[in-house]
Amino acid sequence: MPIATVNPATGETTKTFDALTPDEVERRLAAADDAYRQYRLTGFHHRAHLLERAADLLEEDIDPVARTMTLEMGKPVKAARAEAAKCVKAMRWYAAHAEALLADEEPARADVEDSGATRARVHYRPIGVVLAVMPWNFPLWQVVRFAAPALMAGNVGLLKHASNVPQTALYLEELFRRAGFPEGCFQTLLVGSAAVEGILRDPRVAAATLTGSEPAGRAVASVAGDEVKKTVLELGGSDPYLVLSGAEVDRAAATAVTARVQNNGQSCIAAKRFIVHTDVHDAFRERFVAGMRELTVGDPMSEDTDVGPLASEQGRKDLEELVDDAVAKGATVLCGGRRPERLDSGWYYEPTVLTDITEAMRIHREEAFGPVATLYRVDSLDEALTLANDSPFGLSSNVWTRDEDEMARCVRDLQAGGVFINGMTASHPGLPFGGAKRSGYGRELAGHGIREFCNPTTVWYG
Ligand code: NAP
Repeated sequence: MPIATVNPATGETTKTFDALTPDEVERRLAAADDAYRQYRLTGFHHRAHLLERAADLLEEDIDPVARTMTLEMGKPVKAARAEAAKCVKAMRWYAAHAEALLADEEPARADVEDSGATRARVHYRPIGVVLAVMPWNFPLWQVVRFAAPALMAGNVGLLKHASNVPQTALYLEELFRRAGFPEGCFQTLLVGSAAVEGILRDPRVAAATLTGSEPAGRAVASVAGDEVKKTVLELGGSDPYLVLSGAEVDRAAATAVTARVQNNGQSCIAAKRFIVHTDVHDAFRERFVAGMRELTVGDPMSEDTDVGPLASEQGRKDLEELVDDAVAKGATVLCGGRRPERLDSGWYYEPTVLTDITEAMRIHREEAFGPVATLYRVDSLDEALTLANDSPFGLSSNVWTRDEDEMARCVRDLQAGGVFINGMTASHPGLPFGGAKRSGYGRELAGHGIREFCNPTTVWYG
């Protein structure tokens, strides 16, 4: 993939970038290594001061950086501003909480004595240079949710961002530099995906985190496995959205629309499979389809737009193929199912609801990365859970019910990294985030996220 800004609303290439040469990559690896040697010795107070400064600068930049994201990947500009604001919040959250999250742990007195120690503790040390391979869909947030905890833990970061968001990637490097982080603490590497293996194998790189598709995750994790380096993988999802008998249908249907089309439908934690109990199915379907039809599809720079274009021509083609495959095998299109006629340039696709889904259809098991929902009817909670778990993915899940026993069953049985009850999945700095099954492993955010790239060191005193 060329490293370039291509406006998804027009298809026009507005800026191209040369990939770094091997010598330039080498200089950045050396700078990261040098930076780590000094930066790891700094204290939490100092790091927090730098991160708060980065948050302040980002807050001042919300409008221009939001427009850059919208230009590069097509999300509605109001959503881009919300993404930038969320990054500010996460930076401040980690600046405030990192020290407590990484405080020394005291093992139980009985265990200390039983180990023969006079005292013992677990001390969280940084691990070094962490490579972050990131996707374009939340081009600021995905990076910040890695960078804020990593920098607070005393690690340094190398960012290999998706090739279609180079200006956002360069903005991030500049942001951390302007905030006062020492040279080499956070660098953007403008390189294609083929360069990742060499960088990850470099002995100066300690670990990697990847957010993206399953094939990319597999490629990075195999190299890391070969090198015995730690990885965190945040991969795809096809989250179920269960609406059970007795659920609040109006709210469930209104939220379902947002849950499916957020970020133009290109969110890993978007609800994608709507599994609805027969008692409330028809009422839900009517409201959900009406809500999807009412959305304003158009120019993502417009404040009125709910759904902009898909980020790439290939992304729209992939989505169209999934829908066409389902329709050819008997799915019914309740709305959408095509490109909007009035928008003749850009990679737009109408918000779509498909029903009469069968196992033979690719969309039953594959991730639909765009504004396309599948709607299923079930007769019982057991059937809903079986269908929800009939997926290779296990990122998050959503459940609508008023029944406490049903809630407990879902928490016990849904195979996912999250169960969001009477609401939609959303990440928050204080709540761990990550998946099960082929959605990946490891966690980001909260204490779980900051500890992923630490060396929890057992300190034993005789
Ligand atoms: P992608 O094609 O996998 O790209 C993600 C990143 O990986 C990009 O930087 C890409 O670089 C790089 N990459 C691709 N193939 C690689 C390889 N073989 N070796 C090393 N690096 C490689 O994914 P995407 O299209 O940007 O993002 C969409 C996917 O991400 C969806 O499946 C979505 O669900 C998932 N996602 C998951 C989460 C989560 O938290 N679980 C969050 C957001 C998105 P290039 O751009 O240069 O190819």
